[in-house]
This record gives sequence, structure tokens and C-alpha cells, in this order.
Amino acid sequence: MNKPIYVTQPTLPNFESFTDKLKELWENKHLTNNGKFHQELEQKLAEFLGVEYISLFSNGTLALMVGLQVLRIIGEVITTPYSFVATTHSLHWNGIKPVFCDVREEDGNLDPDKIEALITPQTTAILPVHVYGNPCDNEKIQKIADTYGLKVIYDAAHAFGVEQDNDTILNWGDLSILSFHATKTYNTFEGGAIICKDAKTKQRIDYLKNFGFAGEEIVVAPGINAKMNEVSAIMGLLQLDLYEENRMKRQKLVDLYKSKFKTVEGIRFINSDKNIKENYSYFPIFIDKNKFGKSRNDVYDLLKQNNIFARKYFYPLISNFSTYRALKSASKENLPVANKMADEVLCLPLYADLEIENIERIVKIIIE
Ligand SMILES: *Cc1c(COP(=O)(O)O)cnc(C)c1O
Repeated sequence: MNKPIYVTQPTLPNFESFTDKLKELWENKHLTNNGKFHQELEQKLAEFLGVEYISLFSNGTLALMVGLQVLRIIGEVITTPYSFVATTHSLHWNGIKPVFCDVREEDGNLDPDKIEALITPQTTAILPVHVYGNPCDNEKIQKIADTYGLKVIYDAAHAFGVEQDNDTILNWGDLSILSFHATKTYNTFEGGAIICKDAKTKQRIDYLKNFGFAGEEIVVAPGINAKMNEVSAIMGLLQLDLYEENRMKRQKLVDLYKSKFKTVEGIRFINSDKNIKENYSYFPIFIDKNKFGKSRNDVYDLLKQNNIFARKYFYPLISNFSTYRALKSASKENLPVANKMADEVLCLPLYADLEIENIERIVKIIIE
């Protein structure tokens, strides 16, 4: 039996470079609370991503939850069911009612033409996701937000480093949220960030992620503990040096997958625009059982029998989990495209060190 292949595998920096920095940490003994490495990573990430202000978090979910608090979002928020559960959970933990909107088939992102019909007097914001790192239709979404006086918070957990027309997409909306979880394409073990556009908002974010402390004896808000620690910040600094090389490795692998599946009847993949700089963090295919002959579940099982662990991102839809399915907007009639995509999708293994032979083997198992 071949060794198991998982959907992703983290790339790790050189071990000695990690222990060198740990030695420094052992000497200065400043383990968390805006330490040296935390400050350095914020500065380097802002430069690298092309954003003005970034605040580091202990994970992406807390960053999402704090982001909603920063903008004082209440009532109802329009969001996508085609995402990781944390997107909707962050609303629930803020006492906000999620309102699910369908997605568009071309990329699985929120369908801007279906947002307006879901707006009520209680709606205060839109929470879209750049799913698989493919950019949402920001222009249309922002126009609706401006018309109705809504905030826009992007769940950009998949969109590290993505650009459109030579500019980062992370400055879109009021805030963007990143995740640096071990399974993401840029990781700090666990981690996350909020990107914002002015110093006052950054200040408020920094208060809220540190219990609301604005000084030794001053608490200005009911904050939480969501700070990134120094070991994670060290990992982040070292990962940054590896990022571009790994991105290019993944691009080659994605190109190979695409060339193999291009002519296969019943298998579709997302073709992104030429003016988009992708991060190649996922490779989802969509399997039409009637045309391909095998269902998504058949292919998933077949790969599993061969010790290859693809993942059904995102199945089940968030709206179909028992915690959310009683919501009116969670009905399948409201979300036909999202339900179809969730039934057809399979994310194939993709990471910088995945061997070409293994991609060829995976494709062969699927096609033959
Ligand atoms: C990973 C992920 C999150 C949560 O991030 P964590 O760092 O794991 O808390 C949120 N939204 C999406 C779309 C994600 O993929």
C-alpha cells in the first residue's frame, strides 16, 4: 500500500531557523502580549500583503468574532452557507441571526444578484467568503452595502496573498479576516488576523483582542483574549520567507491537474480570471454523476481505498447542519446552487511538496 496522501500538508521552515528564534525568545522571556516577534510579523505582513493595518489573532474564528464586535454588528447578517462552519458560528456567538444567500455556480461565492431580496430592516451587514481564495464580486456587493447602509466583512480565510488587477483584495469591504490555521496555505500553527483601513479601527481591534485594556488600569470595552503568542509569530515570520516559492510549486501542480481534467466529460473545475493572482490553496473539482458515470461519493470512496484522503469541502452546507437548518433562509429552495455544489465537490490533494507522480496516480484512479 502506498503511504497515505492527505488533502493538504503544511510546509515547515528549516528547524534550526526556528530554534534560533526560540533561543532569542528564551532570553527575552516576553512570551505573548505584543512581543517583539508579534510586532515584527504585523509590520512584515502589512508590507507583504499590501495592506495598511493588520492585527494578529490566536485564530481566525476569534478574529471573525471580534471583527463583528468592532463594527458593532447586530440583528441580521447576510452570508453564504458554502463555507467552513466558523463563518456562521461567529455570527451566532455574537447573537446575530445568519441569513443564508445562495452562491453562484462559476466560483461558489455569494451571488450578488440574490442579496437584495434578503435585506430586512434588521440587516446590518454582509459577510461574504472568498471561497478557495477566488475573489467575490466586490463591486456589486459594495454597491448594495452603500445603498442600504450595510457594513461588509470579508471572511478571507482562504485568500492570503490574492490580488486582482495587481492589487490585494484584502482591502475590500470594511474589514477582512484571515486564518493561519495549520491546514491553510500560510500558517502559524494556529492564528488569524483582521485587516482594516484606519488607525482608529486598528486601535479598537487591539483593545478588543486584549480584554479591552487601554492601559494598566483602564478597560474601555468588554474585550476577549484573542492575542497571537510569540511562538506562533516566529512561525509566521519564517513561513513568510517560504510563501512565494511554495505558491509557485502549487501553481504547477494545479496546472497539471487542470490539463488532465480539461477534456473529461462530467468533471468541472473553477477557471479564474487572468487578472487574478491566485494562491492555489485548494483544487476543488465538481463531479456531475449523470455525465461522469460516478458520483462524488463514489470518487471519494475510491480514492480512500487507495489511501488518498480527498475532502468534501464544503459538504454538508452550513445551512444543512442541525444547528441552522430550522432558519427560514436555510431551506433548500432558497439555496439550490449551494446545495448542488456541495453534492458535487471534491477537493483533491494539493500542497507544495506533493509529487507529480502522485497527481498522475490520483487522476488515473479517478478517470479509469
Ligand atoms: C479556516 C476557516 C475559518 C476559521 O479559521 P480558524 O483559524 O481555524 O479559526 C473561518 N472561515 C473559513 C472560510 C475557514 O476556512
